Amino acid sequence: MPAFSNRLSGITGGGDDGWSLFYRARALKDAGEPVLELTIGEHDTRTAPDILDAMAASARGGHTGYAAVPGTRDLRELVARRLQSLANIPYGPENVLITPGGQSALFAAHSLACDHGDTALLFDPYYATYPGTIRGVGAVPRAVAARPEDGFQPREADLMDASEGAKSLLINTPNNPTGAVYSDATLEGIARVAEARDLWVISDEVYDAQVWEGTHRPFASMPGMFGRTLTVGSLSKSHAMTGSRLGWIAGSAEAIGHLINLSTHTTYGVPGYIQDAGAYALSRGPKVEAEVAAPFRRRRDMVLARLADQQAIKAIPPAGAMYVMLDIRATGLSGLEFGEMLLDEERVAIMPGESFGEAAKGHIRVALTLPDEIFAEALDRLFAFTARKLAEKAA
Ligand code: PLP
Repeated sequence: MPAFSNRLSGITGGGDDGWSLFYRARALKDAGEPVLELTIGEHDTRTAPDILDAMAASARGGHTGYAAVPGTRDLRELVARRLQSLANIPYGPENVLITPGGQSALFAAHSLACDHGDTALLFDPYYATYPGTIRGVGAVPRAVAARPEDGFQPREADLMDASEGAKSLLINTPNNPTGAVYSDATLEGIARVAEARDLWVISDEVYDAQVWEGTHRPFASMPGMFGRTLTVGSLSKSHAMTGSRLGWIAGSAEAIGHLINLSTHTTYGVPGYIQDAGAYALSRGPKVEAEVAAPFRRRRDMVLARLADQQAIKAIPPAGAMYVMLDIRATGLSGLEFGEMLLDEERVAIMPGESFGEAAKGHIRVALTLPDEIFAEALDRLFAFTARKLAEKAA
């Protein structure tokens, strides 16, 4: 057999990065074990029936052939308008490419920004696919640590130190896994470095509908940043449409032109009936997005209330997204050890911090993705387990 390309055979960088725990939890569930899963960012509700009706009507109406590769005019316009309404960014339909989900948009954006061997920056902790996405286009990931003591807001000086010779920087606000929403000061610092180092900024804003504190400021709206920013978005989180695979990249018309060429030679677009469902969903406005987001805010508050009367386990209160990071270092366990034992002893599955990079070691990520009552039960078990481990350590 001929050799596989290094680019793909090395895409994960080796090691399981804590994902073995997730697969074990899934295997237990498939075998009928009652595992309470607080792992990946998937809603406990499904796509709303009216969105599905719009999808079915479009398909039945014949929108099942090849759709326009850049995306339908309607959807591109609605995405542009949504970005305009968030921060008055002068986007029109020519500034938007529709993609099969945010993940493929991240890949496409890095393909545009980086040549083989180029350095692509990202902040650690990071969404688990980021380094592989960068390797997948032949670029080399370079992680810059954001610190728990800063609430995981990256420091300008750290970024400046690490960014010499880099081509791109991937940012994510609201952030998965930390829940940080970047402050104006953080974004201004990033903008200064982007300018000084002439970086492309790939801004992953798929959680822009889930903000609990402060406001989300799209990076493209920062002074002078429009031309160098590729904004990634998606209906996965905002409309519970994870399985529809519907996302976008917004950027300069010239950038989008190159990205349309990439789509022509890779995905050849997104199914028209899915796009029509997405257009219908977006046309319902921000109220619907707030309704989809509401349970996560409620459950975030449940976790923080449970932690209020103790000192050992700390949360970095998430300002956005559908997760809470817990600092479990007081138990003396690594995130992975904690997760393995919690699954064995309590049948609760979380993601160990190690899945998200070096900076999240000693933490676990709890996804806020079970119905309230079951979520409360999972928290009971999690905190009972934690109390036991703290007692064992003290004994
Ligand atoms: N970016 C972040 C930070 C995510 O957490 C996810 C999914 O969990 C994605 C991108 C990809 O989302 P999708 O491809 O479903 O749009």
